[in-house]
Amino acid sequence: MPLRFYNTLSQQVEEFSPARDNTVRMYTCGPTVYDFAHIGNFRTFTFVDMLRKCLRANGFQLDHVMNITDVDDKIIRNASAQHKDLKEYTSVYTAAFLEDCGRLRLERPERLTPATEHIDDMAEAIGKLTAGSHTYESEGSVYFRIATFPGYGKLSHNDFSGNMAGARVDVDEYEKADARDFALWKAPKEGEKYWDTPIGPGRPGWHIECSVMAIKYLGETLDIHAGGIDLVFPHHENEIAQSESLTGKPFSRFWLHAEFLMVEGQKMSKSLGNYFTLRDILARGYQPEAIRYLLASVPYRKSLNFTFEGLKSAATAIDRLRNFKLRLETDKFPDGLNQQIAERTKTAGQAFSDSLNDDLNTAEALAAVFEYVRDANSAMDAGGFHSENAAGALEFLARFDSIFDVLKPTTQEGQSTDEEIEALIQERNAAKKSRQFARADEIRQQLLDRGVVLEDTKSGVRWKRK
Ligand SMILES: [Zn+2]
Repeated sequence: MPLRFYNTLSQQVEEFSPARDNTVRMYTCGPTVYDFAHIGNFRTFTFVDMLRKCLRANGFQLDHVMNITDVDDKIIRNASAQHKDLKEYTSVYTAAFLEDCGRLRLERPERLTPATEHIDDMAEAIGKLTAGSHTYESEGSVYFRIATFPGYGKLSHNDFSGNMAGARVDVDEYEKADARDFALWKAPKEGEKYWDTPIGPGRPGWHIECSVMAIKYLGETLDIHAGGIDLVFPHHENEIAQSESLTGKPFSRFWLHAEFLMVEGQKMSKSLGNYFTLRDILARGYQPEAIRYLLASVPYRKSLNFTFEGLKSAATAIDRLRNFKLRLETDKFPDGLNQQIAERTKTAGQAFSDSLNDDLNTAEALAAVFEYVRDANSAMDAGGFHSENAAGALEFLARFDSIFDVLKPTTQEGQSTDEEIEALIQERNAAKKSRQFARADEIRQQLLDRGVVLEDTKSGVRWKRK
């Protein structure tokens, strides 16, 4: 089944392939680095990671740009309140963000682009928009005049032809001619960081940074632009207005948006006490791979209810898969190939790929995996799973893990590595052989204390982390 996505722009599911050569030119909106990212943010970033992996599984190469918003009102305010240089303030949260991504096994985009390294590009783009009569100035700030872009509203499917006067649709602290107009460039305020540029002193608005960096690295028309659903309006609508006014070309062919994350059935908010950063959840002892699994398991266009019960179920699901893999690697099966099982493995693999290609239906992809594991386990119990079926099953698991990436346990600080565990098991085997049973028991206990469980089977010792 060919790869298909729901395109917010057309409101249709469309077959996807890149416009030029085999490379997908993709832009996704990155974090604003004024605080630690919360799990709602990571729902979107996990979706982007799954998207990357599925694109690659379809044989495409990636050129993916993600911005780091390291200048905005909140950042400037927080930095000056703490008497810190902007960079000094944001570098802490940029590093924290990348570290969190690493814990969730999110691939690094091909390019990470901090806004503050592209101020001149933004000033130049704003100059061009002014030359094209798309802007006006007010007290040193420059605004985009929405009335000059007739296509405004085509992404969010809002009809803006009516009277919008008085409606406040953009978060902004400056005077505007029309409520929909938004700041491209903000005049410096007393004591706050600003840049001197050919269009005057000041700092860029948030929307312009994405348009400028996307076009600079990926060209005038992107294959995919993605982000959280909350960005559709006004952020992405504004990106389209600026970009298409600059180039006269469609800004992006596909627009993909991930739905909201709820916590225990409610909107996440600090006042409800259900606001969690990734760090908060890790501090409660949950495994990063269980968090990743939970975030990935719900198709991105459905809202996701994040619960601690759900996290426990995710951990159990991962355990089931790890146990199955261990069984494949260590059990002794009857010789030969069971053709029926081989066929079953093939159809499961096909169902897995088809589900993901169907607009990243991760829930159905997981169902294909678990139905297969159940059938294969039953076949093993009944002696119908043969030795030559193991390779195909392992290959299917590897393909699953190349997308979901949850099978390898995260080694925590102070935890034994696989190599250390293997070495202790070797020592225990040797002790048993030379009838030093006390020493063998001692090693078993030692491993247990480190959270490693040994299982003596007909085909030798196997181990797993608790
Ligand atoms: Zn953006």
